[in-house]
Amino acid sequence: MQQSYCRIGPDATRNLRLSLVARHGGWQNGRMTRQLEYPAMQAVFARFRAFVPEPKGELDHLNAFTLLVAVALSAQATDVGVNRATKALFAVADTPEKMLALGEEALIAHIRTIGLFRNKAKNVIRLSQRLIEAYGGEVPSSRAALQSLPGVGRKTANVVLQMWFGHPAHAVDTHVFRVGNRTGIAPGRDEVAVERALEDNVPVEYQHHSHHWLILHGRYVCTARKPKCPTCLIADWCLYEEKTA
Ligand code: SF4
Repeated sequence: MQQSYCRIGPDATRNLRLSLVARHGGWQNGRMTRQLEYPAMQAVFARFRAFVPEPKGELDHLNAFTLLVAVALSAQATDVGVNRATKALFAVADTPEKMLALGEEALIAHIRTIGLFRNKAKNVIRLSQRLIEAYGGEVPSSRAALQSLPGVGRKTANVVLQMWFGHPAHAVDTHVFRVGNRTGIAPGRDEVAVERALEDNVPVEYQHHSHHWLILHGRYVCTARKPKCPTCLIADWCLYEEKTA
């Protein structure tokens, strides 16, 4: 990956990054959306909480291991599609040991409707092996340990930390990135910058659920192509300059 960045050169990389940010809505008229002030952040999250007091993730799981596997499978796939595939899978393989016993080919048969299924199957088998060898078959509870597992990046680790261990971690997916930038809740040029903005600016009483509020808002209201601004519950605070009428 680093080599290909070198090949296209720093300017091209920068332009690509800026165009991606622009497409996601965080870059408006040549400048980054500014960060919402504290009173606005309070008002926005109070509304999210009033509307959905206890937001939940939409990936079905039975325990920490099945959550980890479901999140790993969900990259570039919908939660609905992952749930459809994992229902039968988790009925027969809900621990690392059972997943290894199932084997890669049988796992592929369960998840072949999910994008990148061959690569994901390989990673799920390898991470099951690693969980047994290094963590006694348990899902570890630190970001570093989670990221040491095959196929587990920072976003997956943050989802597991937040959903299973109750840590106020902010997994920045495409929805969170877009909503954070458009609204001014968490402007940032890349995922890590948005994650840092959320950590620094979301009032602490809302930190635990902010990840799910932003995902749900991005998935159902502040959609990529045509956000539903006229009916959006935070429209009066949102800083997006191209709101739909
Ligand atoms: S007003 Fe529009 S752009 Fe702003 S958060 Fe709501 S849907 Fe998204």
